Amino acid sequence: MKVSAACVVEYDSIDDLYVLYGKGGQDVTISDLPKPVLHIGEGSNLLFTGDFPGTLLHSGIRFIRQVFPGSADASGLTADRESQERGASVFYEVGAGVPMDEFCAWAAAKDLWGPENLSHIPGEAGASAVQNVGAYGVEAKDIIYSVNCFDTVLCRTVSFRSEECGYGYRESLFKTDRKGRYIITSVVFRLSEFSGPVLGYGHLKSAVEAAAGQGGVTPSLVRDTIIGIRREKLPDVSELGSAGSFFKNPVVPRSAYEKVLSIARLEHGEGCNVPHFEAGSGFVKIPAAWLIEQCGWKGYSEGNAGVYSRQPLVIVNLTGNASPDEIISLENRIMASVKEKFDILLHPEVEHI
Ligand SMILES: Cc1cc2nc3c(=O)[nH]c(=O)nc-3n(C[C@H](O)[C@H](O)[C@H](O)COP(=O)(O)OP(=O)(O)OC[C@H]3O[C@@H](n4cnc5c(N)ncnc54)[C@H](O)[C@@H]3O)c2cc1C
Repeated sequence: MKVSAACVVEYDSIDDLYVLYGKGGQDVTISDLPKPVLHIGEGSNLLFTGDFPGTLLHSGIRFIRQVFPGSADASGLTADRESQERGASVFYEVGAGVPMDEFCAWAAAKDLWGPENLSHIPGEAGASAVQNVGAYGVEAKDIIYSVNCFDTVLCRTVSFRSEECGYGYRESLFKTDRKGRYIITSVVFRLSEFSGPVLGYGHLKSAVEAAAGQGGVTPSLVRDTIIGIRREKLPDVSELGSAGSFFKNPVVPRSAYEKVLSIARLEHGEGCNVPHFEAGSGFVKIPAAWLIEQCGWKGYSEGNAGVYSRQPLVIVNLTGNASPDEIISLENRIMASVKEKFDILLHPEVEHI
């Protein structure tokens, strides 16, 4: 089902933001536009629950340029090559409106390591720094050096180093009570010509080795292998609408995991194991997909909405006509069944607007 917004504004530069937020001497500023104001990327992680009465902002800032460690600007980086030493890392500033996968492809083509495991994740570079996107053992925070923003409250630019961004699993400063205050204008990524692949996740190593054959492992090879795996597991959004993983993987105390294990063993026998990952200090992360599948949702469909048959973490818009209510009703029923069976509360990863 289509929804609409009262107003959509795409801007192309930081100067445009100064104008919009009232420092350009213009007559029409953000205060004149419909409220609320929401900055979006590609909208791939958003569920609009109805028409949006306010203003959607979107970044048209699109560039990729190399920058060098230094102290010439707020981010601690300068584009002045001559005045800087070059280390093992190379730094690239990417405009917030650049599709993240375009940057991943660009880096792989240049034989630079860093973002290859994040290949094929929908969305833009700016949003990747909001979401701390992650896949195949790498999170955006692992390669983000700094995030450049426009502060809509103080009407000035500000830069945060990665360690100031409060990064956690799909969490960041930009999703806290300060959400909406900072518009990300560009992200500085730290890449490397030498660091090599990160292949510790699942069967990625064997898949990459099989693809490499006698040849060497390159960023492009890792990227292509990951794209192949993702195409197997995830629906192509151009054919089947989805927001990717609908729920976060729950991080629970070990006692809650042991309870899940005993429920699973009662049902499937003593040999049954529950997939899980250590999450530090007595906590365990359980794949939400496994919990949902155990509740019988994999491949389920009703009306226009359903649960993807190859990945139960993904709720799909089967016909393209699913209403927000159909998606939300399915979401609620999945959450209720996981809670009832395993006493675990799932939290949506998708942002409801
Ligand atoms: C098929 C599919 C597969 C996916 N796979 C993965 C995956 O493997 N790993 C993963 O982590 N995610 C995955 N996702 C989720 C999604 O791709 C990410 O969350 C992505 O970062 C969203 O980018 P976007 O540009 O669409 O942002 P949107 O969905 O439009 O916005 C996301 C958030 O960022 C904010 N935002 C966007 N741009 C800016 C800006 N410039 N300044 C300030 N705030 C901003 C928005 O307000 C919103 O809060 C997947 C989604 C789909 C549909």
